[in-house]
Amino acid sequence: MKILIINSGSSSIKYKLYETGDGGSYLADGIVAKIGEPGSYIRHNVRGHEIEYEVSVPNHSKGFELMIRLLTDPGYKILRNVSEIAAVGHRFVQGGGVFEESVLITEEVIKKMEEYVHLAPLHTPPNLIGIRETKKLMPDVPQVAVFDTFFHKDMPMKAYLYPMPLTYCTKYGIRKYGFHGTSFRYVSREASVMLGRPLNELKMILCHLGNGASISAFSNGRSVDTSMGLTPLEGLMMGTRTGDIDPGVVFYLSRELNMSIDEIDDLLNKKSGLLGISGLGNDMRSIIKKADEGDEKCNLAVEMYTYRVKKYIGAYIAVLGKLDALVFTAGVAENNPVIRAKICENLDYLGIEVDEEKNKRTVGVRGEISSERSAVRILVIPTDEEKVIALDTMRVCKLQ
Ligand code: ADP
Repeated sequence: MKILIINSGSSSIKYKLYETGDGGSYLADGIVAKIGEPGSYIRHNVRGHEIEYEVSVPNHSKGFELMIRLLTDPGYKILRNVSEIAAVGHRFVQGGGVFEESVLITEEVIKKMEEYVHLAPLHTPPNLIGIRETKKLMPDVPQVAVFDTFFHKDMPMKAYLYPMPLTYCTKYGIRKYGFHGTSFRYVSREASVMLGRPLNELKMILCHLGNGASISAFSNGRSVDTSMGLTPLEGLMMGTRTGDIDPGVVFYLSRELNMSIDEIDDLLNKKSGLLGISGLGNDMRSIIKKADEGDEKCNLAVEMYTYRVKKYIGAYIAVLGKLDALVFTAGVAENNPVIRAKICENLDYLGIEVDEEKNKRTVGVRGEISSERSAVRILVIPTDEEKVIALDTMRVCKLQ
């Protein structure tokens, strides 16, 4: 049975076709990128054979059409036609406090999603386009939405409320929601398997360090705090986002520099973080390379990035009171031993000690990198958000 997983963003469509038999495997995946921009392209990968070409993709509709054309290309022999797809699972960033559990998409569900679009104006509209385009191409195939916010739904009020008059939360929904939940769900479960202990007995700190980055304090089967907030801007320093700053900076930029709200939004979300400090870009690989060559700004970017993760780890150890495992996942943390080592540097008094050799060996693969002496187990687990979405989609559609 085949399940299609879709992550429809503002300028890209990421997809993965999942075969559910035999424990599950991926048949094909790809991305339609730079939709509506110059240089749009499609990258399609079937069993390790990858093709990439530039193609005009003026809108999502065209993007979906191209994706289906490639998936049903007779040359690849993976899908004769779309009727072989049993269900489609969509990654939704924001459940808006309305949806927590994964849900079968109906007209009523879409209507409710449209009502909280203002909470995630960058993410929810392209997610909704993904649903509509899928419906056009596969009208009879059930669709499921899986929410990134789900993982954090049981956070205590003291963690998710901002210290503002309560009506701002109750009336307008202004509170911390947290994101990267689908990734956190995957790595927390896998960590429990690696540690050979039940999930609901574990206290863990989960670090998702990709282009977007967030961290979660996990206790007895639930997220008890997380670094992202109402939007993905709060928390850690990221590829292009500031993470935590004094909100007073926003007033200053507006009053003293006469910047508009949109300009400030663009500055803090798209021009800051690693890009803003290094002046080079948002890719940690190039930044580390330049830092090694002596570039001071790149070195500062790495120092700030790791310092801020370390600060959150300290805070979350205080929240949890005890720590069984520190888990690293996503692009930067899965692949970079230098970043992991810097984050964990001088944390041995908290029971966190990296084994240098194990750390160096663990690149892009699952592994344990803690030393024999480390009281806290330090794990690297490549994330697999699509697998979580596929399993949820099957469960909601009663396909298993
Ligand atoms: P997202 O899903 O948030 O877009 P990913 O989890 O795919 O991001 O991570 C992408 C990021 O991972 C890239 O921006 C890149 O900086 C970083 N990355 C990938 N490989 C490495 C590496 N070897 N060293 C450092 N950073 C890396």
